[in-house]
Amino acid sequence: MAERPRSLPIPGVRRAWWLREALLAESQAGGVEPAPPLTGETTADVVIIGGGYTGMWTAYFLSERAPGTRIVLLEQDICGGGPSGRNGGFVHGWWEVLPYLVQRYGPERGLEAAQAADEVVDGIGNWCTQHGVDAWFRKAGYLEAHGFPVAPSGFERTAETTTRLGAPGQLVAWDPDAVQAVCASPAFRDGLFMPSAASIQPARLARGLRRVLLNRGVVIHEGTRVRHMETPASPGINWAPIPGEPAVRVWTDGGVVRAHQAVLAVNAWAAGWPGHRMRLLAWGSYMVVTEPIPDRLAALGWTGGELLSDTRFTISYFRTTRDGRIAFGAGVGAAGLGGRIGGTYTADRHAVARVVSNFDHLLPMLGDVRFEDAWGGPIDITGHRFPEVGSQDGGRVHYAYGFSGNGAGPSRLAGRVLAALVDDPNDPLARLAFVGARQRILPPEPFRFIGARVIREALIRRDDALDAGRTPGFAVRTISRVPGWMGYRFEH
Ligand SMILES: Cc1cc2nc3c(=O)[nH]c(=O)nc-3n(C[C@H](O)[C@H](O)[C@H](O)COP(=O)(O)OP(=O)(O)OC[C@H]3O[C@@H](n4cnc5c(N)ncnc54)[C@H](O)[C@@H]3O)c2cc1C
Repeated sequence: MAERPRSLPIPGVRRAWWLREALLAESQAGGVEPAPPLTGETTADVVIIGGGYTGMWTAYFLSERAPGTRIVLLEQDICGGGPSGRNGGFVHGWWEVLPYLVQRYGPERGLEAAQAADEVVDGIGNWCTQHGVDAWFRKAGYLEAHGFPVAPSGFERTAETTTRLGAPGQLVAWDPDAVQAVCASPAFRDGLFMPSAASIQPARLARGLRRVLLNRGVVIHEGTRVRHMETPASPGINWAPIPGEPAVRVWTDGGVVRAHQAVLAVNAWAAGWPGHRMRLLAWGSYMVVTEPIPDRLAALGWTGGELLSDTRFTISYFRTTRDGRIAFGAGVGAAGLGGRIGGTYTADRHAVARVVSNFDHLLPMLGDVRFEDAWGGPIDITGHRFPEVGSQDGGRVHYAYGFSGNGAGPSRLAGRVLAALVDDPNDPLARLAFVGARQRILPPEPFRFIGARVIREALIRRDDALDAGRTPGFAVRTISRVPGWMGYRFEH
């Protein structure tokens, strides 16, 4: 392995590579329609807070089911400026969490939820075709490659369990030869293949959604941070709703929206939102992208566009791009304090160094390859590492967050469910088992922050030991098990 150059890209100094690529393509295709900040007062049937996938899919499906609904969407940055425009682009549903869904909701309702989530992959692909959005959609499957030399993968059993629970063929155990045929690395052993998964250029999907919404007449205000939301059910409210008048008020830096209903689609930022802050923890995930290396990919045999990951808890996930790069990420960033989403999630150079170290471990033959960019973002982890979707304030406010690093696909299902909750709470989508279900709350600050930092470090050390073929030390093993003992779903 050639020696890695000392200098690595500095995260957080410019927008992520995906978003720069998408914005360039957008301006070459005729420019970006502006979406000016909100100033003054306006009214809407529905106000949506957050211009990521969840908020934009909600607006899209609402405009489908109830044309003519006046929708105002507020985004503090630009649409897709958050994780939706800088994630790994792994699109899949919930087959890997089917055992959790069945355990929590029973065999029929658990399977029904996973089947509903299965729609997202072809749904996104077909949507892109229908709306002329070139988001580099490619359905080539997702291969989890076991990287630990000594610990067994358990993949055969996982595949059998998925079959037994009613989803044969959705997760398939592969032997090491089949894994090597996809990408020849000495670090990979056996594998678990999910054929239904697809890759996308994440920012192109986000920006495509924005274009379609503007064309449909959705009013978007970018550069518009929401400071506060009030409904007649908010604590300390001393005004009564006037029948027929909008009963939700949303204050931004420069204006106010009065609406009949609101949708909270702020992802990790919900960790700082009243009423939700005990429900999730934000954790950093970081990515790097290489220079174009199509010949090196061909030498690895990795030309089929498959998504890859390893089996670390602080997962390394990697995929190729249309122009022959590798985009490689890992959940090795830190947890932040008290729901503040700041530099911890975007400017952590130590996390980037850890991502690169994982890259070198998994793809040692590429040690001389240059990295052209690095970036990070917050992922929103709940007690069960599963999204919370539901309604509050007497059905006037609807929310979805907590995708726990797997929202690129499921945010579409969340958008369909949120649109149903707004339009018709009796719709079958609004009655899926997970809708309204709450998970174990997290410890209060500062215990959450301290605990998360200690446990994260233990998990990384445990993964490093297993990667090196060692048994993790007693202290590391014990600390990594604490969340499970406390009733959180924090293990694979
Ligand atoms: C580095 C990284 C890699 C990832 N890789 C994958 C992957 O490969 N596959 C996968 O499935 N998932 C992945 N994820 C997770 C995925 O990106 C998210 O689950 C998904 O984007 C969630 O979409 P969202 O719309 O709910 O949230 P976001 O995209 O975070 O959108 C929320 C929006 O709300 C806005 N907002 C917040 N507060 C306010 C406010 N007060 N006022 C106005 N606007 C506000 C934010 O600016 C943001 O744009 C990754 C995440 C990261 C960070």
